Amino acid sequence: MSSDYKFQGWLGLDKEAVNGKMVWQEYEPKQFAETDIDIKITHCGVCGSDMHTLRSGWGATKYPVCVGHEIVGHAVRVGSQVKGIKVGDRVGVGAQSGACMNQNGDCDLCANGLEQHCQIANTNTYDGKYPNGDKSYGGYADYWRGPSTHVIPIPDALPSDVAAPMLCGGITAYSPLKQHNAGPDKTVGVIGVGGLGHFGIMGAAALGCKKVVAISRTSAKKADAMKMGATDFIATDEDAKWNSKHRNSLDIIVCTVSSPKMPIQKYLSLLRFNGVFVQVGAPEDVIPGFNVFALIGKRVKVTGSAIGSPQEIKDMLQFFADKGVRTWNNNRPMKEANQVCIDFEAGKPRYRYVLVNEKHANEAAKL
Ligand code: NAP
Ligand code: ZN
Repeated sequence: MSSDYKFQGWLGLDKEAVNGKMVWQEYEPKQFAETDIDIKITHCGVCGSDMHTLRSGWGATKYPVCVGHEIVGHAVRVGSQVKGIKVGDRVGVGAQSGACMNQNGDCDLCANGLEQHCQIANTNTYDGKYPNGDKSYGGYADYWRGPSTHVIPIPDALPSDVAAPMLCGGITAYSPLKQHNAGPDKTVGVIGVGGLGHFGIMGAAALGCKKVVAISRTSAKKADAMKMGATDFIATDEDAKWNSKHRNSLDIIVCTVSSPKMPIQKYLSLLRFNGVFVQVGAPEDVIPGFNVFALIGKRVKVTGSAIGSPQEIKDMLQFFADKGVRTWNNNRPMKEANQVCIDFEAGKPRYRYVLVNEKHANEAAKL
């Protein structure tokens, strides 16, 4: 069986793409394997990583690139060796689209459900390479093709536009909360009330944490953060004494800040004994240094976290579905993707833009 559709999407051809210069073009997807799935895309969330990649902020992007890694749609072609997903199923894919899956028995990470850290054959959903050398292309597009190992069924309780941003933004903020045992005995801070940050606040609240502190630059997002479940709010640019007022109060901090201009020493002062600072935001430049006594005095740990494994994503979707956690999504037509990138860069999302492939979404609505 072959496909009767073309792969077309918004391609970035050079660094200018981020400034509203993506072009709608056809491209050659990976060669279809019997373990692959094609998705007819209805929705794709817009993540900060899309902007870093479009402008080669993390190093040279391999243009042409089609970004977008919060993809939801319907399976339209399913390889003969795929298990558990059939044509017509509503499915999604996040920021990782392939790993070695311990096929040769030599990957402890894939063997232990840590596929997102696979060091043998890790493929990003866009600007990546599959083991056969084919390029990976993301979701600002009509169709997506990739390995079924990273295609996630979407629970019925979650509409597609709500589910899409959870596949990267949601899991990236939620996974470190789980890793560090966020729960009723823990106080949590989330820095940056953006796409990732709003999931961090809602996730910590849903896990029943006794205190959830939203940490933002200004108070503009305070009312929203409290609706998401924050119990406290800090506006770092508006209160010179914010860190002394709140020092020694948090067990876990999840920092989603995407800029290197962050007051890390002051952030660390918020932690209690044995507290952990988890950086998930991925700035394009080095972050400021800090005095080691910030670590020594309270045995503070500084670490990072990357997205989540396919199983973690499935578990999170079910947890969010059950607990009523819903994305604050702003839907925009996919044809406006260039303007959406400009608006994202201006800090306008409240709190996640979702590109809607209107033709496919309308067809899906009639199913
Ligand atoms: P976003 O919606 O723009 O949110 C980032 C937030 O950071 C902003 O809302 C803002 O919060 C804060 N911020 C922005 N500029 C800042 C500055 N100059 N100084 C201080 N704070 C600033 O972006 P996102 O989609 O959530 O992505 C955030 C970062 O996470 C990006 O770097 C992205 O690449 C990265 N990421 C990492 C992973 C991973 O696996 N680790 C996965 C996905 C994304 P306030 O307005 O509240 O201050
Ligand atoms: Zn992302």
